[in-house]
Formats: sequence, C-alpha cells, structure tokens
Amino acid sequence: MAVGQVGAPLLDGAALRADFPVFERPTASGRPLAYLDSAASSQKPRAVIEALADAYGHHYANVHRGIYELSVDADSRYEAARTAVARFIGASSPREVVFVRNATEALNLVAASWGGANLGPGDLVLSTEMEHHANLVPWQQVARGTGAGLEYVAITDDGRLDLHDLRARLARGPKLLALAHVSNSLGTINPVAEITRMAHEAGALVVLDAAQSVPHMPVDVTALGVDFAALSGHKMLGPSGIGALWGRRELLDAMPPFLTGGSMITRVTLEGAEWNEVPWKFEAGTPAIAEAMGLAAAIDYLQSIGMDRVRAHERFLFERAWASLEDMPGVRLLGPASPDEHAGVIGFVVDGIHPHDVATILDSEGIAVRAGHHCAQPVMLRYDLPATTRASFYVYNDLDDVERLVDGIRTTQQVFGTA
Ligand code: PLP
Repeated sequence: MAVGQVGAPLLDGAALRADFPVFERPTASGRPLAYLDSAASSQKPRAVIEALADAYGHHYANVHRGIYELSVDADSRYEAARTAVARFIGASSPREVVFVRNATEALNLVAASWGGANLGPGDLVLSTEMEHHANLVPWQQVARGTGAGLEYVAITDDGRLDLHDLRARLARGPKLLALAHVSNSLGTINPVAEITRMAHEAGALVVLDAAQSVPHMPVDVTALGVDFAALSGHKMLGPSGIGALWGRRELLDAMPPFLTGGSMITRVTLEGAEWNEVPWKFEAGTPAIAEAMGLAAAIDYLQSIGMDRVRAHERFLFERAWASLEDMPGVRLLGPASPDEHAGVIGFVVDGIHPHDVATILDSEGIAVRAGHHCAQPVMLRYDLPATTRASFYVYNDLDDVERLVDGIRTTQQVFGTA
C-alpha cells in the first residue's frame, strides 16, 4: 500500500487514542503521553478493559469442569476465544491453539516438550543471533539437557539474517530452526516464508516467534508454512497473562505434556495417567479464563481496523521517523533501512549519551521509550553496544508522536552538549 507516498497516515491516531483510557492520564511533563513502547507491551482499548470486567462480572466460573449454566457459559466463551485466535492467525483448527501465559511460555513448551522427546546427542538445533532471550534460553536449556548441538544464524551489519550463513548451517541437517518473525531490538522483518521453504527442504521444523508480528501485520501461519508459532496477548492490545502457542496438529498430538496436573488428563490412577487430547493436553490447571475473553475482544478490535491498515499505518510512521533520524548528526539507527523489511520498531543510539539518559530526557517530555538490551543481549554484543534506545509504534501513534520523538532527541543532545 502506498500510504507513505500520499503524505498522511492511514489511521487517525488521535481518534483511536480516544478508545484508550491511558491517554487521559496526565504526564508530569504537562504534555500528553506519547507512548512509544508498544513492543514491550501495548496499551488497552476500553473494549478490552470492558470485556475483562464483563468476563469477571458476568461470565466467570472455572472451565472444563462444571455442568452448571455459568460454567458452560464460561467454557463456551473461553473456547470461542481459542477459535478467534485460530482464525486471526490462519490456523486450520482451534484444536491447534494452546493457551499459555505468553510467548515465552509457548517457546518453552515447544523446547521442553518437542525438544525433550526428539533431540539427543548428534542432533542440531538452529536459532539466530537476533532472537529475544525467550527464543534463545529455552533452546540452550534443552540442548544442555539432551546433548544436542545449538548454533546461531549470523546477522548482517544492517540487521538482516545472513541467508548464506543460514544455507550453510541448514546443509548440516538441523532438526529445527527457531526464529523471530520480527526482531524486537532491530525491527527486522524476516522473510519467513522463504526461510521456511529452505528449512523444510533441509528437513528442519520451523518454530516462529511471532510475538512482534501478530500484533502488527497480517500473519497467516498456514501460508507461511511454519510448524509452530508463539504470541503474547499483552502486545496486541489484550490482557497480560494470556498468550498462545499454535502448532501443527500432528506435531502437537505426538508431543508429551509440558506441565501436568488437572484438566490435561482423561484418567488418573495411583499408577499413572492418560493424557487429554490437544490442545487441553497442554493446559494443565486453571487457565487465564477472563484474559482469554479479553484477548478475543482485542482481536475483534484489531480486526475492526484491519491488519493491513495497522501495518500500513506503522510503516508510514516508520518511514517518517527513519527519514528524520537517519540524517540527524550523532544518531545511529539499527536494522534495515527498507520499510519492506522493517516493522514499526526503531532501535537507535545517540553518540556520547547513554540510552538510559536518552530515555530519561524523553520521559521528561512525556515520551515513553524503552532503553536497555531489550532481552536481546547477543544483539547488543553483535553491534558492540551496551544498550540502545527503542521507539515502537502502534495504532494509537501518529505523526505528532514521531515529531516529538525527533525533537526530544534534539533536546537530549542539547542538554548533554553533544548537538
Ligand atoms: N519474543 C519477542 C520477539 C519479544 O519481543 C518478546 C517480548 O518482548 C518475547 C518473545 C517475549 O514475550 P513475553 O514477555 O510476552 O513472553
């Protein structure tokens, strides 16, 4: 979509902000909140907050247990939320969607369950240098526990996955490739369909960390061809405490449980237990019931905008921000310059000023950004940086936020005398 060329954002950020009560909150700066930290966690529209209150107020009971009216109501709404997630990500069946707490838990589930059952000495797992710790540490743990090898696909100087390196490593016959769809520290959008084709040709399964893509662009796991995908509700306007793992049915069927206890069994004796069918086999204990209903409301809200429009809006803001910042003396930007390969997440460094100081000065102007290693310490090491500052966009941002960010960085340079 040629939104960037027509000179106006596709969405009316100011009008959308009216749906989010947080923007009624004054900031100490006296200026409205410019929230540029949605990659860490998004704000919540009134529709989600009300759905959560309605769930707790009128539809709450434990699920999968009761035979009384209220429990049946809660159960059907919880399962309807599963169907909503399945449709939203293009899954062929809700039975392939497992509710978990967040993307981290989803990735741990695959690593521990699939990895524990399928990996051993001599096997190889590939991850990449651009992963969030959530898609690194679980693989390190399972490699340690099973004796499998773990290697990382290199990244280029401009923050792309090095596809030559990927090809060379795939030639060694890894059993699995775990990668991010969108890097939370670099903003890179990886060519997942192409990478998945390459991985499958080499006989490797693909685990997609979709935590930064599903909230911001159309994602169809079936079209992408991946085998597993992980997402977090709190990054897509939904409540915290709810996320999802999608996996191919035959893979989930063959995997052992992750956590054990109530709900995930069909029969228990003192000698042993038989597992429930998927997805319930992976949902031990009482799940995040109301939060699942809140997530369904978030999906409704996003669908009412349209994911193509969400992506086009963020792309427009990215293009404007990048164009302003790339020419600014003393500012270095991370990740690919092309808007086709870069999501609405911009990591940057301001020469001579620590990212925490940049974020502190921006905060004094009412601008919320993230500073630190962004749970991607290997990325910081790769570019020899202690930390970066990161601005990330969502539906409620507009050009005014971009201008305030750019002005705020200028002010920071003046305060530190580096301008
Ligand atoms: N993967 C990526 C790319 C992320 O950006 C994040 C969070 O920032 C995660 C995984 C982990 O998400 P959560 O903390 O919701 O489990």
